[in-house]
Amino acid sequence: MSDPAPPTLFLAGHPAIDFLNSAYAPGGQQIETLVDGRALLDWMVGAKLVSDAEAAALQRRFTRKALDAAAQEARSVREWARTWLSAWRTNPARDYSDEIAELNGLLAREDRQRELVVAKRRLSLVDRSRFADASALLAPIAVEIARLVTEEDPALVKACAGADCTLWFLDRTKAHRRMFCSASACGNRAKVAAFRLRQLK
Ligand SMILES: [Zn+2]
Repeated sequence: MSDPAPPTLFLAGHPAIDFLNSAYAPGGQQIETLVDGRALLDWMVGAKLVSDAEAAALQRRFTRKALDAAAQEARSVREWARTWLSAWRTNPARDYSDEIAELNGLLAREDRQRELVVAKRRLSLVDRSRFADASALLAPIAVEIARLVTEEDPALVKACAGADCTLWFLDRTKAHRRMFCSASACGNRAKVAAFRLRQLK
């Protein structure tokens, strides 16, 4: 019997930061949500990077081993991105050519296809990711990181001011005074603590 998956959080206001928040440490205890390939696909559905149907198809198409390897790579890319983005948000003008080259390597795995489909009797042009192998799952995540550093103001990428909270968010408020990941999430820590207690039992 496997343990229930820890709760995933989508409160950062940007998928790249939600990705960083896929590991968090309320009260100092590290919680990993991308525990395996299945969890990675679930997270990608939650982040709207793939649809439910795509995730189900990918799970049938790739071996468990390949998906687990993609999750392992995702965890290491996440910690690499955390280091880069921590530096970038306070010092955006520094030379990040190594990080950029690394990210471009992940972006190169992207393969997209546009398709005309009929949905609800209307024609629409949809843009789909094709995944040649499980490692290509990192590409849409890399795209979100690239979007963050090209489209957003680094000063608005903030760490939550909550005591013991390790979550980050993009401050999209008009006055730019958001300080907390979210009232409910920091309030939610009681829930997470309860979850941990259940795990210990
Ligand atoms: Zn918080």
